[in-house]
Amino acid sequence: SKPLLEVNGLKQYFPIKGGMLGRTVNHVKAVDDISFIVNEGETVSIVGESGCGKSTTGRAILRLEDPTEGEIVFEGEDLLALSKSKMRKKRKDLQIIFQDPYASLNPRQTVSQIIEEALEIQNVVPRRERRQKVIDLLETVGIGAHQIDRHPHEFSGGQRQRIGIARALSVNPKLIICDEAVSALDVSIQAQVLNLLKDLQRKFKLTYLFISHDLGVVRHISDRIIVMYLGKIVEVADKKSLFENPQHPYTKALLSAIPSTNIEQKKERIILKGDVPSPINPPQGCRFHTRCPYAMERCASEEPKLHSIPGATQQVACHLVEEGSVDYSKLTANY
Ligand code: SF4
Ligand code: MG
Repeated sequence: SKPLLEVNGLKQYFPIKGGMLGRTVNHVKAVDDISFIVNEGETVSIVGESGCGKSTTGRAILRLEDPTEGEIVFEGEDLLALSKSKMRKKRKDLQIIFQDPYASLNPRQTVSQIIEEALEIQNVVPRRERRQKVIDLLETVGIGAHQIDRHPHEFSGGQRQRIGIARALSVNPKLIICDEAVSALDVSIQAQVLNLLKDLQRKFKLTYLFISHDLGVVRHISDRIIVMYLGKIVEVADKKSLFENPQHPYTKALLSAIPSTNIEQKKERIILKGDVPSPINPPQGCRFHTRCPYAMERCASEEPKLHSIPGATQQVACHLVEEGSVDYSKLTANY
């Protein structure tokens, strides 16, 4: 399959104003030079703790916030080079679903009005066909036709997320960015919504960029996973490699925090020291060195580049992982 989306050298720096003159005194380096590809029909997840830059990346792709630097190539076209009005038309192809559907659904509109409005803005179907299209869309996501004149507050959290999905689908997008789309839901409802997303992907040939802090959630839905830490990509791997053979020490720590259902799989929980440092003055060298149990001297000064592991599909940014994969059983960790 071919790339649908290519993110090249993306940077998003937010200025911090200060002093009497309100000059820019510093920057929050929310995303600091990341590159990745999402192929057609794939589900790629971005995971990391809050503040790692994953949501900022999603917003930059849609130009909800124009990035500081980089390229967002969608179907061969750099979105950042488009005028605002051309970009507005493009939004038909790239949709986003947020964590809290309630915040993005107008409480005064009925569900039917909410989706009809989306259809109208992008001029997807003629006016007289809109109501039927709304009914079809809602049925596709599991909301019955008898509910279409209800307001958002009359639905449960899971149903509201289904409505958000129907609205995103209404304009026939190619890429849907799901930003913590199931994070606010109970575990059983999460599973239902994830299954729905999978079904819709098959049915409508969708590509997903799935943003989540929860590796347990992305495990169900991802083909490939990107791990971010403090504005950088630290590891990219297919799902199997990531879960069975994580290479970056940060990925290992994240995985160790997932509650294991299987007693035999019980892994040692890796508790990282300290908090995530500030993205205003991120640590020199490897950004993870202040918390990494395997940090070496060079880690504090030399930034590890993301590179492929020979003989594997994985990419890792870590000095330990230069020659090949790491055998962690031979290493002594310094917690
Ligand atoms: Fe740890 Fe060094 Fe690898 Fe960074 S480069 S993850 S500090 S071992
Ligand atoms: Mg976020």
